[in-house]
Amino acid sequence: MRMHQCYYCEQLFESKEQLYEHVEIHSDIERNKEIMDRKKKAEERDPVKPKVKKVE
Ligand SMILES: [Zn+2]
Repeated sequence: MRMHQCYYCEQLFESKEQLYEHVEIHSDIERNKEIMDRKKKAEERDPVKPKVKKVE
């Protein structure tokens, strides 16, 4: 029987379903990284101003 290998971490799975389920973890991480990168770049372009709290 052919094993399915995760192309992110090279872990082996017996079924494609298991592999797909596993790969979702990685795609979530990738997505989060992308969001973080975009956020970082946006901050470089337009630095976040320090928040001033209003004192009542
Ligand atoms: Zn993996």
